[in-house]
Amino acid sequence: MVSATPSPSADGADGALPPSQVGSSDRLAPVARGLRRLLPSTFQGRLTAAFVTVIALTLLLVTIFVLNRLDDYFTQQQKTELEGRAQTINVIVQLLAQEAAGGFPVVSGDGVVHPAVVALLTDPEYAGPIADNFGQADVRLEFGFTTSEGGEPRFVPAANGLFTIALRAPPGERQARERFSQTLYFAGGSALGRYTLAVTLADPYTYRAAALANVTGLLAAITLFALGLSVIVSATLARRFTTPLRQLTDASRALAEGDLTRRVASPTPREGTSELDELARQFNTMADRLQESVEIIRRDRDRSRDFLADVSHELRTPLAALRTFNQLLMESAGDDPEARAEFLESSAGQIERLDWLAQNLLELSKLDSGLVLLDLRPDDLRAAVESAAHQLDATAARRGVALDVRLPDAPVRIRHDPPRIGQVVTNLVGNALKFTPRGGSVTVDVAATPDGARIDVADTGIGIDPGELPHIFERFYRGARSNEARGSGSGLGLAIVRSIVDMHGGGITVESGAGTGSRFSVDLPRDPRTVAGTPAAARADVATAAEGDARLAAGTVPT
Ligand code: ADP
Repeated sequence: MVSATPSPSADGADGALPPSQVGSSDRLAPVARGLRRLLPSTFQGRLTAAFVTVIALTLLLVTIFVLNRLDDYFTQQQKTELEGRAQTINVIVQLLAQEAAGGFPVVSGDGVVHPAVVALLTDPEYAGPIADNFGQADVRLEFGFTTSEGGEPRFVPAANGLFTIALRAPPGERQARERFSQTLYFAGGSALGRYTLAVTLADPYTYRAAALANVTGLLAAITLFALGLSVIVSATLARRFTTPLRQLTDASRALAEGDLTRRVASPTPREGTSELDELARQFNTMADRLQESVEIIRRDRDRSRDFLADVSHELRTPLAALRTFNQLLMESAGDDPEARAEFLESSAGQIERLDWLAQNLLELSKLDSGLVLLDLRPDDLRAAVESAAHQLDATAARRGVALDVRLPDAPVRIRHDPPRIGQVVTNLVGNALKFTPRGGSVTVDVAATPDGARIDVADTGIGIDPGELPHIFERFYRGARSNEARGSGSGLGLAIVRSIVDMHGGGITVESGAGTGSRFSVDLPRDPRTVAGTPAAARADVATAAEGDARLAAGTVPT
């Protein structure tokens, strides 16, 4: 048995096409390329070309059809006219022949035309006008008989009965010779003898060519005019249709070049379509979002730059002081024990300040970046506030300021992060003590509210100028009179307070007036997870979706 394996070369599967397939598409490729090059490159141009092509094709078809019909019509008309001329010639020739024959038969019984008739019809004087005036064609007259022998009627010419009269007259105005001939047979004669006269009109003068040329010229003029008009109308329409697209292109280019304020005007109902209208709207929405995003990024960048500048400025002051102390200690002051002790103490203060600054910066950047996760517990708020405030008892006593912490009798149970709320209280009470002169007082109040709880920290200190109030929560902001206050600050305390309160979904307000003391009020919600936008709420959502409500109900919120 022989097994057949298809060999690649046997069926042309080696990649080579059969010769018949190779040529056709390759030969057409340059034509297609040429046609493509002829196409306008713009959308407006292509739309115009498409309109004009459709109109030109329609006009061409209409012209061909009209000319064809007209030609048929003129040919028919010409036939009828030639029939009329042949009739007239028949009547005249028969009258003349009868008169010339003078009572004898025009064609004798044995088929001979009377000599007088022959003489008359061969005399150009008589015969000429027949062709020139009545036939307006070469005229051929043939006398004979019609016989029906053999079934079909047949014309049998007489022996001397053929007369050819050439047309000599010039054509009339707009007349032309037509290569055409037509023969009509007429019965003639009298009781003396019957005969048949065949009248042939050949190459007649007609108006057909002139009329056709006229109509063709008119049609060509109309076609040209219609084409010109269609180019103008098409270009105008295409321009109108593409105006919204052009506006979109301009706006996109402006956006790409950095003009983020550029928008597309909504297309008018006359020039726009619902699709383009939608496109313009979507483009504007996209541009709005882009502008918003860029503005946010720009603001963030500016904030980061300011923050960096502030940080380096804050670091430079203690570092410069430390360098000075160090130099002084290395020089003369190093030998004086009193000066030495003083400089060392000042250096320790600056190092402490640097450490404090670094800690606060780290804390703030952690809070801002969302790295700090709150440990939310449904605890009694009184405990967190009390322990934080009492940590500052010693400071208050040292500064001669009365610190009064007033707590409600009933527990204030809200979900919060106790150490962080403690930090809020420490910072607020620390500020109050710092900005309250000896003999003044600082009071801390905790109260339950319908929505959660409120912590008030009030002092009888120097107060804050109304102009400074909007800025005190900004990073590194320090009031003009903060240097008069005892102890220096970094302008980070209130920024940290605000970040922690924000993370709890709460709010902080301040009432103050220069010289009348200040009151900072922190409002906290009962459960930060129910406040939209807080990190806790976002995590609660995730937890709910992933694990159900069970863990939340049990109070084990993942932090
Ligand atoms: P600092 O570390 O300088 O205290 P803060 O952010 O805590 O920074 O406070 C910013 C500024 O707000 C202070 O420099 C001060 O001008 C003003 N300020 C804050 N708390 C009080 C207060 N209780 N009384 C008066 N001014 C205050």
